[in-house]
Amino acid sequence: MNTQRITLHLRAALLTAALALSVHAAEAASRIMILATGGTIAGAQASQAQYGYKSGAFNVQDLIDAVPQMKDLADITGEQIVNIGSQDMNDEVWLKLAKRLNEVLAQSDIDGVVITHGTDTLEETSYFLDLVVKSDKPVVMVGSMRPATAISADGPMNLYNAMAIAADPRSKGRGVLVALNDTIHAGRELTKTNTSSVQTFGSLNRGPAGLVNTGKITWFGVPSGRRGPESEFSITGVEALPRVDIIYAHANMSTDLIDAAVKNGAKGLVIAGVGDGNMTQEAIEHCAAAAKSGVVIVRSSRLPSGLTYRNNEIDDDKYGFVASLELNPPKSRVLLQEALLKTKDVKEIQRMFSEY
Ligand code: ASP
Repeated sequence: MNTQRITLHLRAALLTAALALSVHAAEAASRIMILATGGTIAGAQASQAQYGYKSGAFNVQDLIDAVPQMKDLADITGEQIVNIGSQDMNDEVWLKLAKRLNEVLAQSDIDGVVITHGTDTLEETSYFLDLVVKSDKPVVMVGSMRPATAISADGPMNLYNAMAIAADPRSKGRGVLVALNDTIHAGRELTKTNTSSVQTFGSLNRGPAGLVNTGKITWFGVPSGRRGPESEFSITGVEALPRVDIIYAHANMSTDLIDAAVKNGAKGLVIAGVGDGNMTQEAIEHCAAAAKSGVVIVRSSRLPSGLTYRNNEIDDDKYGFVASLELNPPKSRVLLQEALLKTKDVKEIQRMFSEY
């Protein structure tokens, strides 16, 4: 009887150990690729504690080596796409990055991707990728506000957290996510709110997607908007994006920039309007003339939060304008570029602004 019991105990113990091993093996099996683009997270100062630095000084392998603890989260590979400050981000790099991202995500030996990026234009790249990524696998963007050489650099922890999010199966289907300062943002929502603080990103309309503390993740909800495989936008075969300019409205605004943008070939204009997307009556008339000539005009707001509603103070129906609703000017520009690849129809573009 005793021998039988011991055998049973032994069997149970062996089974538990085998299960634990297989669970561990399944967890450890996440294969994550880092696509690096530069930014402050890869930035270096001339010497520590010295103000000023150069973005994109370290490469992807340097970043991986700097956070060896990530190896416990995933099998990691890395690839350098570009090494720039994100103030130099442009359509060409977006297309290159998005195409490579779709290729990598289609690989059966890759479970998710982390993208390192400067914070200046991260909110634009994240939304661009959100619209054109054709996979449900996790994509997590990450940057930092202090260069890699700084005292108390924020990059290593941000990168560790991004890796934890990418390796978490619950991150699937949430679109492009962004990890910064222990907060997870949806790529559609975040905006840069402070020039230097490590808590620079805010998801000002809908709030963050979750929190992350040393790799431990708490989700707040699934991000809104159509994206990923649900998105009607695609960059397959696209070699260039239509030119869309942003015009900043202000008191005593001149109409020269509106006319110059149209004259120089802009296919769309986003007005970073005052208040809820307002501009001077003269600017409205110049935009209306542009709209008549086939340039698509989107009214957004220069304010950090809130919606730009249709037909509120400006009669969008009369002038043939599109209202940006939740999207700020840089994100409106991204959606309008994508929209213009498909149509110039204002009604159809307004539908896109309400769905994405
Ligand atoms: N200028 C830098 C960049 O966007 C700022 C940063 O990464 O925080 O690349």
